[in-house]
Amino acid sequence: MPKKKITAKDSLKAKTEINTNTPIINGHHCLDYLGGYSDVGYGWVRDNSTQKLAHRASYEIHHGPIPKDMLVLHACDRRSCVEPRHLRVGTQKDNAADRKARPKAPLSPSDKTAIINDTDDFNAIGRKYNISRNTVKQIKGLIP
Ligand SMILES: [Zn+2]
Repeated sequence: MPKKKITAKDSLKAKTEINTNTPIINGHHCLDYLGGYSDVGYGWVRDNSTQKLAHRASYEIHHGPIPKDMLVLHACDRRSCVEPRHLRVGTQKDNAADRKARPKAPLSPSDKTAIINDTDDFNAIGRKYNISRNTVKQIKGLIP
């Protein structure tokens, strides 16, 4: 029997959740992707036999093809977010400018303690604090 095809659209629909702890941007909270993540904190979705980055797949589904060599940028600065109204295309330069305009608040010592004691999986912790899974592991002392 042929394997059932799963499109990126199906994957996104099945594995997202509105995160009401996030600020409202463009009229909407973040829509967090709950599936698999890359080490740097971007979601992966299955698109038939290939894998796509979740936020790029969401952009393509809602806004159309991404021009060659362009990035999909987050208005909310949260890599786990796939809310189409938080996504726009931009260049590497735009991305760097965004980052400069919006420096990330450093984690406080109490955040770090909370992360160390948090028994959720690394992806879920990363979503709560908007950090990558690798950063979670570093804070927990699991990787250098
Ligand atoms: Zn968002």
